[in-house]
Amino acid sequence: MNLILIGIQGSGKGTQAKQLVKKFDMKHITTGEIFRKHISQRTDLGMKAQEYMNKGELVPDKFVFNIIEGTLNEANGNFILDGFPRNITQTEFLLNEFKIDAVILLDLKDEKAIERLMARRHCENCGKDYNVLFKPPKQNGICDECGGKLVTRKDDNKEAITKRIEKYHAETNEVVKYFAEKNLLLKVDADQTPKAIHEDIIAKLKK
Ligand code: AMP
Repeated sequence: MNLILIGIQGSGKGTQAKQLVKKFDMKHITTGEIFRKHISQRTDLGMKAQEYMNKGELVPDKFVFNIIEGTLNEANGNFILDGFPRNITQTEFLLNEFKIDAVILLDLKDEKAIERLMARRHCENCGKDYNVLFKPPKQNGICDECGGKLVTRKDDNKEAITKRIEKYHAETNEVVKYFAEKNLLLKVDADQTPKAIHEDIIAKLKK
Protein backbone atom coordinates (compact mmCIF):
# COMPACT_ATOMS: atom_id res chain seq x y z
CA MET A 1 0.00 0.00 0.00
CA ASN A 2 1.27 3.49 -0.89
CA LEU A 3 -0.01 6.27 1.37
CA ILE A 4 0.39 10.00 1.77
CA LEU A 5 -0.05 11.67 5.15
CA ILE A 6 -1.01 15.34 5.25
CA GLY A 7 -1.59 17.36 8.39
CA ILE A 8 -0.99 20.72 9.97
CA GLN A 9 1.80 21.05 12.54
CA GLY A 10 0.38 19.80 15.84
CA SER A 11 -2.08 17.39 14.20
CA GLY A 12 -0.11 14.38 15.38
CA LYS A 13 1.29 13.45 11.97
CA GLY A 14 4.54 12.10 13.39
CA THR A 15 2.78 9.90 15.94
CA GLN A 16 0.35 8.52 13.36
CA ALA A 17 3.09 7.90 10.81
CA LYS A 18 5.07 5.90 13.38
CA GLN A 19 2.06 3.72 14.18
CA LEU A 20 1.24 3.08 10.51
CA VAL A 21 4.86 2.21 9.76
CA LYS A 22 4.78 -0.30 12.61
CA LYS A 23 1.43 -1.81 11.67
CA PHE A 24 2.05 -2.17 7.93
CA ASP A 25 5.84 -2.41 7.97
CA MET A 26 6.05 0.50 5.54
CA LYS A 27 8.88 2.81 4.63
CA HIS A 28 8.38 6.31 6.01
CA ILE A 29 9.64 8.83 3.47
CA THR A 30 9.99 12.42 4.70
CA THR A 31 11.50 14.86 2.21
CA GLY A 32 12.37 17.40 4.93
CA GLU A 33 14.40 14.70 6.74
CA ILE A 34 16.15 13.63 3.53
CA PHE A 35 17.19 17.24 2.87
CA ARG A 36 18.38 17.67 6.48
CA LYS A 37 20.51 14.53 6.08
CA HIS A 38 22.06 15.88 2.88
CA ILE A 39 22.81 19.15 4.68
CA SER A 40 24.47 17.39 7.61
CA GLN A 41 26.59 15.38 5.13
CA ARG A 42 27.34 18.60 3.23
CA THR A 43 26.48 17.09 -0.17
CA ASP A 44 26.17 19.43 -3.20
CA LEU A 45 22.43 18.88 -3.19
CA GLY A 46 22.26 19.59 0.53
CA MET A 47 24.10 22.89 0.09
CA LYS A 48 21.72 23.95 -2.70
CA ALA A 49 18.63 22.91 -0.75
CA GLN A 50 19.82 24.73 2.36
CA GLU A 51 19.66 28.12 0.62
CA TYR A 52 15.92 27.65 0.10
CA MET A 53 15.22 25.98 3.41
CA ASN A 54 16.90 28.80 5.34
CA LYS A 55 14.57 31.29 3.67
CA GLY A 56 11.56 29.12 4.48
CA GLU A 57 10.96 28.53 0.74
CA LEU A 58 10.23 25.30 -1.07
CA VAL A 59 13.25 23.65 -2.65
CA PRO A 60 12.89 23.66 -6.49
CA ASP A 61 11.15 20.57 -7.84
CA LYS A 62 14.16 19.26 -9.82
CA PHE A 63 16.11 18.79 -6.56
CA VAL A 64 13.13 17.21 -4.85
CA PHE A 65 12.66 14.70 -7.68
CA ASN A 66 16.37 14.00 -7.62
CA ILE A 67 16.35 12.99 -3.93
CA ILE A 68 13.05 11.17 -3.88
CA GLU A 69 12.83 9.10 -7.06
CA GLY A 70 15.24 6.33 -6.07
CA THR A 71 13.74 6.06 -2.59
CA LEU A 72 10.23 5.79 -4.02
CA ASN A 73 11.29 3.11 -6.49
CA GLU A 74 12.91 1.06 -3.74
CA ALA A 75 9.89 1.33 -1.46
CA ASN A 76 7.19 1.11 -4.15
CA GLY A 77 4.10 -0.71 -2.95
CA ASN A 78 4.89 -0.03 0.68
CA PHE A 79 5.55 3.59 1.52
CA ILE A 80 4.06 6.41 3.52
CA LEU A 81 4.95 9.90 2.32
CA ASP A 82 5.22 12.89 4.61
CA GLY A 83 6.08 16.38 3.34
CA PHE A 84 5.69 15.36 -0.31
CA PRO A 85 3.97 16.27 -2.61
CA ARG A 86 3.85 20.01 -1.78
CA ASN A 87 2.51 21.37 -5.10
CA ILE A 88 0.68 20.20 -8.22
CA THR A 89 3.83 19.53 -10.28
CA GLN A 90 5.09 17.20 -7.53
CA THR A 91 1.66 15.59 -7.28
CA GLU A 92 1.55 14.88 -11.00
CA PHE A 93 5.11 13.56 -11.00
CA LEU A 94 4.15 11.16 -8.24
CA LEU A 95 0.89 9.97 -9.78
CA ASN A 96 2.54 9.47 -13.17
CA GLU A 97 4.88 6.87 -11.79
CA PHE A 98 3.23 5.46 -8.68
CA LYS A 99 -0.18 4.24 -7.64
CA ILE A 100 -1.36 6.01 -4.50
CA ASP A 101 -3.95 4.06 -2.51
CA ALA A 102 -5.02 6.83 -0.15
CA VAL A 103 -4.19 10.30 1.11
CA ILE A 104 -4.86 10.67 4.82
CA LEU A 105 -5.68 14.21 5.91
CA LEU A 106 -5.41 14.77 9.65
CA ASP A 107 -7.98 17.48 10.04
CA LEU A 108 -7.47 19.96 12.88
CA LYS A 109 -8.70 23.54 13.36
CA ASP A 110 -5.93 26.18 13.42
CA GLU A 111 -6.83 27.31 16.96
CA LYS A 112 -6.48 23.73 18.27
CA ALA A 113 -3.13 23.32 16.55
CA ILE A 114 -1.88 26.60 18.04
CA GLU A 115 -3.03 25.50 21.51
CA ARG A 116 -1.21 22.16 21.17
CA LEU A 117 2.01 23.65 19.80
CA MET A 118 2.16 26.27 22.54
CA ALA A 119 1.93 23.47 25.10
CA ARG A 120 5.11 21.78 23.83
CA ARG A 121 8.16 21.73 26.09
CA HIS A 122 11.51 20.03 25.95
CA CYS A 123 14.29 19.46 28.44
CA GLU A 124 17.15 21.88 27.85
CA ASN A 125 19.52 19.26 29.20
CA CYS A 126 18.57 15.90 27.61
CA GLY A 127 16.09 17.03 24.93
CA LYS A 128 13.17 14.83 26.05
CA ASP A 129 9.84 16.11 24.70
CA TYR A 130 6.75 16.91 26.76
CA ASN A 131 3.38 18.51 26.19
CA VAL A 132 1.73 20.14 29.17
CA LEU A 133 -1.69 19.18 27.77
CA PHE A 134 -1.09 15.53 26.81
CA LYS A 135 2.25 14.43 28.18
CA PRO A 136 3.02 16.56 31.24
CA PRO A 137 6.08 15.96 33.43
CA LYS A 138 5.48 14.56 36.92
CA GLN A 139 6.74 17.82 38.40
CA ASN A 140 5.89 21.12 36.77
CA GLY A 141 8.79 22.48 34.66
CA ILE A 142 11.20 19.64 35.57
CA CYS A 143 12.33 16.76 33.35
CA ASP A 144 11.28 13.29 34.64
CA GLU A 145 14.44 11.72 33.21
CA CYS A 146 17.27 14.01 34.27
CA GLY A 147 15.80 16.76 36.47
CA GLY A 148 16.69 19.37 33.81
CA LYS A 149 14.67 22.52 33.19
CA LEU A 150 11.78 22.31 30.68
CA VAL A 151 11.72 25.08 28.10
CA THR A 152 9.69 26.13 25.06
CA ARG A 153 11.18 26.09 21.55
CA LYS A 154 11.95 29.63 20.37
CA ASP A 155 9.67 29.23 17.35
CA ASP A 156 6.76 27.88 19.41
CA ASN A 157 5.38 31.35 20.12
CA LYS A 158 1.98 32.37 18.81
CA GLU A 159 3.26 34.65 16.05
CA ALA A 160 5.72 32.12 14.62
CA ILE A 161 3.21 29.27 14.88
CA THR A 162 0.54 31.32 13.09
CA LYS A 163 3.02 32.05 10.28
CA ARG A 164 3.89 28.35 9.93
CA ILE A 165 0.21 27.46 9.79
CA GLU A 166 -0.51 30.08 7.11
CA LYS A 167 2.37 28.70 5.07
CA TYR A 168 1.04 25.17 5.51
CA HIS A 169 -2.37 26.18 4.14
CA ALA A 170 -0.85 28.09 1.23
CA GLU A 171 1.25 25.05 0.28
CA THR A 172 -1.20 22.22 0.85
CA ASN A 173 -4.63 23.58 -0.13
CA GLU A 174 -4.26 22.91 -3.85
CA VAL A 175 -2.78 19.46 -3.22
CA VAL A 176 -5.62 18.52 -0.87
CA LYS A 177 -8.17 19.73 -3.42
CA TYR A 178 -6.47 17.74 -6.18
CA PHE A 179 -6.64 14.48 -4.20
CA ALA A 180 -10.23 15.15 -3.13
CA GLU A 181 -11.20 15.46 -6.79
CA LYS A 182 -9.48 12.14 -7.49
CA ASN A 183 -11.49 10.55 -4.65
CA LEU A 184 -8.32 9.59 -2.82
CA LEU A 185 -8.73 11.81 0.24
CA LEU A 186 -9.56 10.27 3.62
CA LYS A 187 -10.35 13.03 6.09
CA VAL A 188 -9.77 12.04 9.70
CA ASP A 189 -10.72 14.14 12.73
CA ALA A 190 -7.41 14.89 14.48
CA ASP A 191 -9.10 16.42 17.53
CA GLN A 192 -9.12 13.05 19.31
CA THR A 193 -6.67 10.89 21.25
CA PRO A 194 -3.82 9.38 19.18
CA LYS A 195 -5.38 5.93 19.65
CA ALA A 196 -8.80 7.07 18.37
CA ILE A 197 -7.18 8.80 15.39
CA HIS A 198 -5.24 5.64 14.55
CA GLU A 199 -8.39 3.51 14.76
CA ASP A 200 -10.24 5.95 12.50
CA ILE A 201 -7.46 5.80 9.93
CA ILE A 202 -7.49 1.99 9.91
CA ALA A 203 -11.31 1.88 9.63
CA LYS A 204 -11.25 4.34 6.71
CA LEU A 205 -8.46 2.44 4.94
CA LYS A 206 -10.50 -0.76 5.15
CA LYS A 207 -13.49 0.79 3.38
P1 AMP B 1 9.51 20.01 6.55
O1 AMP B 1 10.36 19.37 7.60
O2 AMP B 1 8.62 19.04 5.83
O3 AMP B 1 8.76 21.23 7.02
O4 AMP B 1 10.54 20.53 5.44
C1 AMP B 1 11.53 21.48 5.73
C2 AMP B 1 11.92 22.25 4.48
O5 AMP B 1 12.44 21.34 3.48
C3 AMP B 1 10.76 22.94 3.77
O6 AMP B 1 10.48 24.21 4.33
C4 AMP B 1 11.29 23.04 2.35
O7 AMP B 1 12.25 24.09 2.22
C5 AMP B 1 12.02 21.72 2.18
N1 AMP B 1 11.12 20.69 1.64
C6 AMP B 1 10.71 19.56 2.26
N2 AMP B 1 9.91 18.84 1.47
C7 AMP B 1 9.79 19.53 0.32
C8 AMP B 1 9.09 19.33 -0.90
N3 AMP B 1 8.31 18.25 -1.08
N4 AMP B 1 9.20 20.27 -1.87
C9 AMP B 1 9.98 21.36 -1.72
N5 AMP B 1 10.67 21.62 -0.58
C10 AMP B 1 10.58 20.72 0.42
